[in-house]
Amino acid sequence: MASIIKPIDKFSIHRICSGQVISDLASSLKELIENSVDANATSIDVTFKDNGLEGIEVTDNGSGIDPSNYESLALKHHTSKIADFSDLEHIVTFGFRGEALSSLCAIARVIVTTATKDQAPKGVQLEYDREGQLVSQTPIARSVGTTVSVTNLFHTLPVRLHEFKRNIKRDYSKALALVQSYCVISTGIRVVAFNDPSKGPRTRLMGTSGNADLRDNLTNVFGAKLVSQLQPFEIDLTPNIQGCITGYISKPQFGLGRKSGDRQYFFINGRPCTLSKIAKTFNEIYQSFIANHYPFVIANLKIPTDSYDVNVTPDKRTIYLHQEHALVENIIEKLGSQFEPSRSTYDPNPMV
Ligand code: ADP
Ligand code: MG
Repeated sequence: MASIIKPIDKFSIHRICSGQVISDLASSLKELIENSVDANATSIDVTFKDNGLEGIEVTDNGSGIDPSNYESLALKHHTSKIADFSDLEHIVTFGFRGEALSSLCAIARVIVTTATKDQAPKGVQLEYDREGQLVSQTPIARSVGTTVSVTNLFHTLPVRLHEFKRNIKRDYSKALALVQSYCVISTGIRVVAFNDPSKGPRTRLMGTSGNADLRDNLTNVFGAKLVSQLQPFEIDLTPNIQGCITGYISKPQFGLGRKSGDRQYFFINGRPCTLSKIAKTFNEIYQSFIANHYPFVIANLKIPTDSYDVNVTPDKRTIYLHQEHALVENIIEKLGSQFEPSRSTYDPNPMV
């Protein structure tokens, strides 16, 4: 007997699609941190509840949410950040799809507290249901900014919930690596992460002081010893692309002997992203100086906003670079020269 083709109800569709935006603890956290940065926060506190198993909370001192946006805050495809499709080529904010909060509501319990500068010290606590509808609004005291608390992650997706609990350790380390990357790149923003266990006191995991210098952030996060093993680099991308790549890379004698993807941080205009081809190029050049070693690298591509597309995947991490080939050529030509002096002084096979 032929089966009948029928539509999936819209709430189920939303729940299924939300799993693409929010696939784990790290992607939930990424969305919340980016919203805080977009709100011009200068201080962001990240709290893991029971190593993330119970949830996460992000508090910022940004703009706060205007009362006129309470109702639409968590509705799908509602954003205050772009108004027009042509804006997509000039995005300077992290967010623009208006999907994160609505997706979080579909799969978790979301509570927001917020106050704008006109309201503080009076604020409000907002609660949303699975469809992103505002269900309660309670006055509370709070300073300017926003706190978004996300608990009961994946409780509406039973199989995903099981996977989440099973993989929580791995997921937690991935989320910590993500916080590290924001700590490093967010110059001028104090980012501090805590763990709040179900038993015992809250502990500080890492943090930066909010200085404007990338090197200070690296020292805060990875320690002075590691930073002393790095060298700054700058690759001018002109004439192909009006921009440059700046960052820090381990000096060849401090290369890491194993595949160290977790020690490589790539950003485009401060946006953490996966750039496999660029990473591969960095590794290959590094290996021409010291075989089988991988660099610790922090690289920020400062390139025009119309030279890449960020809307390729829902998590916005996969970025399509319009001139990737030219970029790779540029790196090949110029990164090596930054190490040139060490070629003569460094002997990878010392006799003693
Ligand atoms: P997007 O970031 O793509 O616009 P989100 O679902 O992440 O979509 O957020 C929806 C809207 O909620 C944002 O456009 C912004 O107006 C508001 N918002 C979310 N988080 C914050 C925050 N921490 N501070 C101020 N406004 C926020
Ligand atoms: Mg967002």
